[in-house]
Amino acid sequence: MSTTPDLAARTRQLERQVFDLNSLLTAGRALHNILNPEKLYEVLLAIVADKINAGPLALFIYGEPTHSCRLVKTLRLPATTAPDFQFPFEEGLLWQNVLQDAPFAVTSTSGEALFDRVFAQHQLRQLCSDVWAPLFLKDQLIGLLTLGNRPTGGGYDEAELDFLKQFAPTAASSINMCHLYVKRNAEKEELSRTFRQLSMLYNISRAMTHISDLKQLLGYILDQAIGAANAKKGSIMLYNQEKDQLEVSVIEGLENQETQDKINSAELACRTFKPGEGVAGQVFASGEPLVLNSVNENEQFVNAATSFVESIVCMPMKVHGEVIGVINVTNKCDGSAFTDEDVNLLNAIADQAAVAINKAQLWELSVTDSLTGLHIRRYLLARLNDELRRAQRFGHALSVIMCDIDHFKSVNDNHGHEAGDKVLQGVARTFRQDVRTIDHVARYGGEEFMFMLVETDKRSAILAGDRMRTRVAELKLPNLPAVTVSMGIATFPEDGTEIAQLVRTADAALYEAKNAGRDRVVAASAPPQPLTRPPAPAS
Ligand code: GH3
Ligand code: MG
Ligand code: MG
Repeated sequence: MSTTPDLAARTRQLERQVFDLNSLLTAGRALHNILNPEKLYEVLLAIVADKINAGPLALFIYGEPTHSCRLVKTLRLPATTAPDFQFPFEEGLLWQNVLQDAPFAVTSTSGEALFDRVFAQHQLRQLCSDVWAPLFLKDQLIGLLTLGNRPTGGGYDEAELDFLKQFAPTAASSINMCHLYVKRNAEKEELSRTFRQLSMLYNISRAMTHISDLKQLLGYILDQAIGAANAKKGSIMLYNQEKDQLEVSVIEGLENQETQDKINSAELACRTFKPGEGVAGQVFASGEPLVLNSVNENEQFVNAATSFVESIVCMPMKVHGEVIGVINVTNKCDGSAFTDEDVNLLNAIADQAAVAINKAQLWELSVTDSLTGLHIRRYLLARLNDELRRAQRFGHALSVIMCDIDHFKSVNDNHGHEAGDKVLQGVARTFRQDVRTIDHVARYGGEEFMFMLVETDKRSAILAGDRMRTRVAELKLPNLPAVTVSMGIATFPEDGTEIAQLVRTADAALYEAKNAGRDRVVAASAPPQPLTRPPAPAS
């Protein structure tokens, strides 16, 4: 039995449709697994090229903000086709066709361009296209596929156009999914970066509130700023109102550790900057951050001999709109340039730092005696309270020295009050230079000073006290009289376990020193005496 020609044709057609459907399914499955846009575009064009014996192929992606179709991939087109080639949405026949959501011819049967004006205007001729297939996902235009004149000549047949029509939604949905995936990943990355930065800033601000010592605070801030920007070095400069200049308060990352230590302990002075001078001065004056990624080409930068700078971010620290100093961060560890992200992060750190530094400065001011620059009594007593507890916990000794200038009244009487002030300043300077960094000295009142020597037993305290007494006795202040001091020492635990007891005992020892002829150090040896003041000096 023979089949009728009709039936045979119908069977072939059905077989072909099943085949097409199968290849569409396979293509769809393959495309949906590709989450890299570049790869997806490539495979997409390869599938079309495999299915249709097409000439040059080009894929455009439609973008919302610019309402343009941007060329993302070509096949069999000369490499000269501009990579960032795009053409905008506009009124007219071409776009009316695109929005029809079906493949359409862009050339007439005789091969002439149908949209000549638009093609010429947007250099679309370089696509050598015959047919355009819009890629729609529901009613949303995702992209556009263009098929060029095939090498064998002739137009595309119905079956091929049909394939394109069936393939378009699959292509559109895989492109859309891939774009969503990329966007979601970027958002996730952005979110986790923001989270990392926020938690870093939170930790910094928490730490800052716990550091009241200005020097320690500055060191912490600088470490965080250098770390955040992945930089090699940095410094913090604070504005000295009296001298109207920026001064380096702390520096990190110098090759010469000894120089760095000296700068940080104020033994070595760095170059200072007037407002407007150099990068720091300019940032201070303008209140705006400055980023230089190639310092050598910039004349504003003054390269110091101690520190070679390739790139720098200089960030102002402002409190209520007033610049109190700048943070400098220099040279990325990997040699790259500072990014906007670095600058934003440093900006946030600088904002927090400014408030913390200002608070510490105000605190410092409130616990500092303006005449001598030493801490005030209240401050030292608070520290003594802390240190006494530590000494109790760890079983350390701790000594307290009460010190009083001898016959100071006569300095005032004979040389004037101003001279008396200068003598006080000179003695205070001597003490400040002489105490170890772990020890503390304060102006207790009038011409009295108090020392707290941590982890120091009586014997060592006597040696330290006598050294300072000698320094004062040897002190020569121009046009001012020489003075001597008397000292009384009390040591924890043998002379007392509480502050009041220790102070009273040290005071009693001082009284003894005065009575014994002054210019001497007396350590308590007996239980504390009731507090009595030394007699007024014989003038
Ligand atoms: P002594 O050896 O017994 O300690 O004799 P003194 O003269 O030092 O003792 P006294 O307590 O009688 O005198 C202390 C003087 O210190 C009285 C006071 O006017 C002076 N004095 C206190 N504070 C200051 C200050 O800030 N500046 C100046 N110039 N003098 C001060
Ligand atoms: Mg005195
Ligand atoms: Mg006195």
